[in-house]
Amino acid sequence: MMEEVNEFDFENRIVSNEYDAGQDAEVENNLRPKTLDQYIGQEKAKSNLSIYIESAKRRGEALDHVLLYGPPGLGKTTLAGIIANELSVNIRTTSGPAIEKPGDLAAILTGLSDGDVLFIDEIHRLSRAVEEILYPAMEDYALDIILGKGPSARSIRLTIPRFTLIGATTRAGQLTTPLRDRFGVLLKLELYTPEELATIVKRSASILEIDITEQGALAIASRSRGTPRIANRLLKRVRDFALVKGDGNVTSEIADMALESLEIDELGLDNIDRRMLEAIIKFYGGGPVGLETLAATIGEEAITIEDVYEPYLMQIGFLSRTPRGRQATPRAYEHLGIPYGAFSSPGAKGIAGQTKMDLD
Ligand code: ADP
Repeated sequence: MMEEVNEFDFENRIVSNEYDAGQDAEVENNLRPKTLDQYIGQEKAKSNLSIYIESAKRRGEALDHVLLYGPPGLGKTTLAGIIANELSVNIRTTSGPAIEKPGDLAAILTGLSDGDVLFIDEIHRLSRAVEEILYPAMEDYALDIILGKGPSARSIRLTIPRFTLIGATTRAGQLTTPLRDRFGVLLKLELYTPEELATIVKRSASILEIDITEQGALAIASRSRGTPRIANRLLKRVRDFALVKGDGNVTSEIADMALESLEIDELGLDNIDRRMLEAIIKFYGGGPVGLETLAATIGEEAITIEDVYEPYLMQIGFLSRTPRGRQATPRAYEHLGIPYGAFSSPGAKGIAGQTKMDLD
């Protein structure tokens, strides 16, 4: 079983919520909403943001720095673009790993205009040296430059344009405290409901000129793990089936058939999810099992499990997080068709009754 898991092509996982810079990039850009009104769901984040944006516009000042956090594919990049658009300012987009040296960031900052948005994706991956350039830039719109070396070194302060930094990360806890404290607005993006995703699917279908029924949209939505990026990707794959096996119209029957061929079950779980749950149940008696141990067992990075697989499995009540590790819930057993309590040795690790200690 282990070998099978490792052979699985994680990169091409159809329900992956990772951004694919290749063929999907252009379509993804076309599908991005441009205004807050077009941005579906995330009502709480949206209503707060619209107030901050309006206030910044009335004051004629730059919007406070914004940190967006939540799992990949939930619309952080899209929202950054919308914020810039609503403020009628330019946006400069980069990412934590792309900024290698402090000088790279200094060059970006000095190239901005007043009020501009600087979007840094994966901001938790900035190096320490680069991060230190950001502190005075965010706080005082200043750049401290050291001239010379040793005892004769001195520092000069350059003023830079008053900009808005929008940072995106999968978890706010990954950021260092000094960086996190410099954001005035922290917005958490939540997984979407199937209804919200169905609206997103219908909107994308109309942009891509795909005929789709209400039930077809819902069938795709309910298997998209709460994630718009996955919903859009599944829509395109189901469209292929509709064209070849049907009359081009995406109905729930076509969607069911396509998703079955793609081995995505009625809840959007694929074989990685199922193997992860099975590993917890069969090898660790249902848990709790530590994250690192679980990661090693299924041949995945712990951080990927935390950011990509877990949020959805927790949202649908299949997995719980306890201080002693991950546990499969009775619902997970039921979904996999395994009798609850099977594989647990007597007196082992305490499967039930731990959930009240959940961290979340
Ligand atoms: P992230 O930056 O969080 O990884 P993106 O902003 O790149 O996610 O969004 C991924 C895709 O999902 C985009 O193509 C966008 O069209 C779509 N999307 C995300 N959020 C929404 C939303 N609220 N309404 C409509 N489409 C959305």
